[in-house]
Formats: sequence, C-alpha cells, structure tokens
Amino acid sequence: MIRAEVVTIGNELLIGRQVDTNSSFMCAELAEIGISVVRKISVGDDVQEIYEAIDVGANKVNLKIFSGGLGPTHDDKTKEAVCRYFDSELIIDQEVLSHIEQLFARRNVTISQINQDQALVPHNASVFMNDKGTAPGLVLEKDETVFIFLPAVPYELKFLMQYRVKPYLRQKFPEMLPVRICDFLFSGIGESALFELLESQTQLFNGQHEFAFLPSPGLIRFRQTICGENEDTSEKVFNVTEKILTVTAGKYFYGRNAESVAHILQRIFTEKGLTFSVAESCTGGHIAHMITSVSGSSAWFKGGIVAYDNQVKISMLHVNENVLMQSGAVSEEVVRQMAMQCRNEFNTDYAAAVSGIAGPDGGSPEKPVGTVWIALATPDSVKTKLFHFGPSDRSANIQRASNAALMMILDEFKQ
Ligand code: ATP
Ligand code: MG
Repeated sequence: MIRAEVVTIGNELLIGRQVDTNSSFMCAELAEIGISVVRKISVGDDVQEIYEAIDVGANKVNLKIFSGGLGPTHDDKTKEAVCRYFDSELIIDQEVLSHIEQLFARRNVTISQINQDQALVPHNASVFMNDKGTAPGLVLEKDETVFIFLPAVPYELKFLMQYRVKPYLRQKFPEMLPVRICDFLFSGIGESALFELLESQTQLFNGQHEFAFLPSPGLIRFRQTICGENEDTSEKVFNVTEKILTVTAGKYFYGRNAESVAHILQRIFTEKGLTFSVAESCTGGHIAHMITSVSGSSAWFKGGIVAYDNQVKISMLHVNENVLMQSGAVSEEVVRQMAMQCRNEFNTDYAAAVSGIAGPDGGSPEKPVGTVWIALATPDSVKTKLFHFGPSDRSANIQRASNAALMMILDEFKQ
C-alpha cells in the first residue's frame, strides 16, 4: 500500500478563519486512486514550521503532499522552506514565465516583478503547469519519498490534482490497486434506522467489501468501496448491492453515484423534457441555488421567487390574504397556493413551494422551530407534506427543507 501524508499550510487554518477543505479534498482524491493517507497536519506560514513538516516522518511515507504558501506575497513561505530542505537554488522556469505573461496579457494587466517571481522554481524540482493560475505545482524527491507542493486556491488545486498530480502518481506508483467507489443515496430516513433495515442483509456486512454511512442534513450516502477489482467486476458487485438495497429499503433509495439530488432531478427532467420552478420562503433561494449549481440546469429550471415577506407572497404569488392571516405563513393552504401560482407564473410543468420556521427564533408551541410545509404542484394535482425537522440549527434546517422538497419531486417519478 502506498502511504501518504497531507499537509496544509496557512495561518488562517490555525486561527479557524479558513475551513481546511483542501486536506479533505486531497485525501479523497488520493483514496480514489488507492493511496492510503496515514496522517494529515496543518502548519502556519512560517519557514521553520514548514521545514519541519517536510522533514518529520518523511521516511515513513512514500508521498508527502502540501497545499499553500506558493503565492507571491510576503506570507508565502513554502518555496523558502523547500529550498532549505532540498538544497535548492531558485531559477526562472521559462515555460512558467511565458504562461504567466500570457495570463496577464489576456487580462490586459501589466505584469509586476512579484508576478514574474512566480516563475522562480527550485532548480531540482519538476514543475506541474497550472492552467488556472500563476503558481505552478512542484515535485521533488529525497530518499525514495516524493514531495508534491501545490497552490492552495481550491479551484487551482482541483485542476492540478485532476490533470497533473493523479496522472503523475499513477505512473510513479504503478503497483497501486484501483479503488472503485459507488454512492447509494438515501433520504427520508435516519442513519440508524437505515442501518437497522439493512442489518439483516449479511451479504452487505460480511466484511468482504467496505461500506460507510455518510450522512448530511436530509441525505445519507451509503458508500461501497471496492479495492483491487477491475471495472466490470466492480460494476457487477455494485449492481448486486443496488438490488439488495432496492428490496430492503427501496422506499428511501434515490439513485446512485449522483453528486447531489439536483443532479438526479436534472437527469429525469431533461430526459422527459419537463420544466420546473420554485417559490421559497424559509429556504431563501437555497433550492434555486442547489439546482443552478448543476451545469445544464437552464434546460429544465425556469426560475424561482423568494417570497420571504407575507406581502411578497400576496403580491407576487397571489396568496389569499385572509388565508395568510387565519392559517399563518407556515400552513398547508399557503404553500399549496404558492406552488400553484408559481407553476402558473413561470409556466412550468412542476413547481415546489416551501414555507417553514428555520429557527432559532420564530417558533411557537403549535409551530415549533423546524416545522416546514412543502407543496408540489404537478400537471394534475397539488401535493402537500408537513415536516418536523426539530430544533437543530438554522442552516441544517434550510438544507433539510431544500432536500425534502427535491425528494418530494423525485417521489413523483419513482415506480
Ligand atoms: P496563491 O498562489 O494563489 O497565493 P498560495 O499557494 O499562496 O496560492 P495561499 O495564499 O496559502 O495559497 O491561499 C490562497 C487562498 O486559498 C486563501 O486565501 C484561501 O482562500 C484558500 N485556502 C488556503 N488554504 C486552504 C485550505 N486548506 N482549504 C481551503 N481553502 C484554502
Ligand atoms: Mg498566497
């Protein structure tokens, strides 16, 4: 097994100002190609700290991979630490320099000295060209251990991992076993209840393949990982798993290998040539955001209204004022009218509406925080459903309500 360590660099990580998404991203990418991350650490923008992070335990792993501190500003110290550790001189890399010059020419900006300095690389390093930014990735080796340094800007890191680092590692470590992952998406059920349903299926938990429950608000990914099998064999195993899951917990199973519920919906709506719109109160546009985060959503999503204030529900969605006064904004009749009007206004095949109490304030004994009404207007009816998500935090309730609305639509298309 190829063993790796992940190191993220930046003061902002240590004072909790920046969530360290880069390390989880790198761990996931390495896991996918069969590299086992045995340790991850974060250090500040300090040459000595970075030097020690390069050095410590280097002989216990095959790979150390770093993000951060490669930029042009005073707090970017990684190259200095690299030069000390690997006895390097900085030299201009002509290919990197002309890439930087082209980037600036395209933006019509004059190039400054510190930007040109981005083309300075340790003389004994190989370079990963960074199409998305100025700082290149660097690779060095010492005593059988490979060291890779990458810039920290997440989309640059993503590009480099996908197009430079992974192909390089596959070549460098040909003995790596392929790892295949399949995510089965569940909703409308808690993690423990799902486990209880599946527990009796001993084929799933006989230890032959790895399974994990990855819950997020309103959604559970049940992940199967297969190591060392070819694509055909893995696919067969995944199909068997899907059959078992459909039989035992089909009511809660929403598809596999989708990045999100919105991706599954997009597949269905575009296949069937249907359109969708949404009227959102407590989710404040989150559902529209989830949908429009998927590239290609313009083919089926026409738009949405954030009808947060009662006046907006009345003026833009023609919700009956008396009903609003009598039943309150969080009520079955109000979401029913919101969904129907939304469908009419946007002229779509389907429309959803959500109204609820996301919290932490605004709850009452009759309608505590987490109470959410959702309606779905379809070509032939309007369906409504009441949810009680409980007193957890505001953003979790918004995510739960958004997922529940999307799941309600998916339920329409379940056989
Ligand atoms: P650049 O060349 O763009 O300056 P860099 O290698 O110098 O990149 P940093 O300056 O350390 O990288 O970080 C650039 C930005 O990337 C930070 O402002 C921050 O928004 C983001 N970032 C840094 N570290 C992480 C991390 N561990 N997880 C997620 N985002 C991060
Ligand atoms: Mg920087």
